Amino acid sequence: MVTEKLFYQDQYLGRFTANVMKADYDGSKQFYVVLDQTAFYPTGGGQPHDTGTLNDIEVYNVEEIDGELRHFLREPIPSGSECVGEINWERRMDHMQQHAGQHILTAAFEEELGYKTLSFHLGEELCSIDLATEFLTNDDAIEVEKIANLMIIENHPIETRWVTSEEIGHYKLRKELSVTDNIRLVIIPDFDYNGCGGTHPSSTGQVGSIQVLHWEKQKKHIRLYFVCGRRVRKQLHVKHQIIRSLTSKLSAPQEELVPAVNRLLEEMNEMERANTELRTKLLEYEINELMENLEEIRGYSILKNTYHNRSMTELQQLAKNIIAQSVGTIVLFINETADKLQVVCARGNELPISMNQLLKQALPIVNGKGGGNDLIAQGGGEKLMPSVDFMNHIHEVVVESLMNDIENS
Ligand SMILES: [Zn+2]
Repeated sequence: MVTEKLFYQDQYLGRFTANVMKADYDGSKQFYVVLDQTAFYPTGGGQPHDTGTLNDIEVYNVEEIDGELRHFLREPIPSGSECVGEINWERRMDHMQQHAGQHILTAAFEEELGYKTLSFHLGEELCSIDLATEFLTNDDAIEVEKIANLMIIENHPIETRWVTSEEIGHYKLRKELSVTDNIRLVIIPDFDYNGCGGTHPSSTGQVGSIQVLHWEKQKKHIRLYFVCGRRVRKQLHVKHQIIRSLTSKLSAPQEELVPAVNRLLEEMNEMERANTELRTKLLEYEINELMENLEEIRGYSILKNTYHNRSMTELQQLAKNIIAQSVGTIVLFINETADKLQVVCARGNELPISMNQLLKQALPIVNGKGGGNDLIAQGGGEKLMPSVDFMNHIHEVVVESLMNDIENS
């Protein structure tokens, strides 16, 4: 069932009439129709499909499958009926601009620097080409962008021609062809000859402009992002919005933004350094205060304390600092949050009790989990009791272990 492709006769056709030759559901229960002729471009050749309406019903996808050009519709229309098709023109024109812009940019890179385009992608927001080079300088990118935009300003015609495989030898093509018959050439005379099945405007001027955005190194090539036509203005608006917001937040004009941010970062680093110093000092004071309330049990000392919403990292640091100074001490910290009870326990080198073991014995009472080693362990569980009761429970386990150890030795 061959559909006549009206977009190859007139790429500016935005409205057409056609007959529905087939109406059916595909394997995934999506309704589609096949028409005798259509201006809807199906996904292919790197160009996304058109959208629009058939008899005011939304066409959300157009694909060529099993030799059929399928229009996927939100609601069914019967086979044999006549319909009016309407192309979402903004979307199509955007695709034509991006696609033709890609041809121009690819040609400019190859002519100017000898970098071939390996593949391209026309995305929803950005387009990209993969260039056969491992590096690209800023100056080179700017120069190629300039040449590409010159091609646009000079407003060269963009022609298409159907040729046979014999005729193809007369043209110096940009890329090897993937098809051998029904070859469609897209030509910018004296500049670019390409086998391509996509839609393009009839002259380079309609691309509007090309803007290279950024590029990144892939394994063996460079992926370069760009936009054409209306998307250039859109990018400018977005970037300008961001700059305006930053100039007001940083109280600096556009050209002063980078130094202003650098100053800010330096100040932040300085403050972080000062903050770390202060915290260390504060911990020292805290330790001294805690050490005044040690509980002595048969030659060992236990230090316990409970906290609310304290950082576990900080409590671990605090416990480590204490056992480093006081090798005969066991530290028991409990931290209470909105819905959890957390524990940090640590011991000095000289003690015969394993903190990991202790935690495994103490945590089940709050359905808790945790782990660590003999010297320090941490964990947490549900808030099933007041923190003071949980502390008493852990304390009992510790005292019991210490007593056992003393009896055994
Ligand atoms: Zn093309």
